[in-house]
Amino acid sequence: MASGKPGPSTAASRPFGERSERSFFCRSCKRAHRGLWVPEGWYVVERATGGGARHLRLGLYCSLACLERAAAGHLAEAQALNAHAGQADLMRDKARTVERAETLLHQGMTIRAAGDALEVPTSTLRHWLREAGVRVGPDGTLTAPAPEPAAQELPAPEPAPGAGQPADPEDQVALGELNHLIQLGYLTDITWSFDADGPAHARVFRAVATARLSGVPGEMTGTGSASTKAAAKAAAARALLEAAAQRGQ
Ligand SMILES: [Zn+2]
Repeated sequence: MASGKPGPSTAASRPFGERSERSFFCRSCKRAHRGLWVPEGWYVVERATGGGARHLRLGLYCSLACLERAAAGHLAEAQALNAHAGQADLMRDKARTVERAETLLHQGMTIRAAGDALEVPTSTLRHWLREAGVRVGPDGTLTAPAPEPAAQELPAPEPAPGAGQPADPEDQVALGELNHLIQLGYLTDITWSFDADGPAHARVFRAVATARLSGVPGEMTGTGSASTKAAAKAAAARALLEAAAQRGQ
């Protein structure tokens, strides 16, 4: 694409081939530039949303220095977010450790012995197990299970006709992504509204999410419908992310 010609394909991909001037802001130094295109030499940061969807534009930077400054800020932010539990890998390790500790405790091992076997301090393991709802008695062994964990061993009940379906997994991922982008400040002014329709046995929930994409004028909307409020919310989150991906182009 090093030819001097303006890219006709880029223009054609814009809705209705529209070419209106707009403002571009550097997210770091707030420098502004008006024009049809992202100014030459600027950096565009996009995050792939997967599945062939358009990328979500996270920001524009007027220089490498501004991009680096932003990246450093985001790293610090991400570290702050994860300061308590470490990175996602650690979270996974933690879940695995808890699972293995539970097995050892079920085999009659004490929490101290299990901690030694798993190379986790006893106090840490005790804390993790408590978080996971596993009760360890004062003697360091598993206490008699409370009534409700026994119920968890039953297979998940089939949803009754009309009962809420869980959120679509991709919608659920989108909701997590949305929350993360809000935490990082890419999406702002998020609002949610909900309504429900239909008889009690066949309720349809509708969720509407609106938000702004930082540095891009105007508001975006995503809507979702489902048989539960939570699933409708997740669907709306996904629609909003898709709208953001379109808008950020
Ligand atoms: Zn800048």
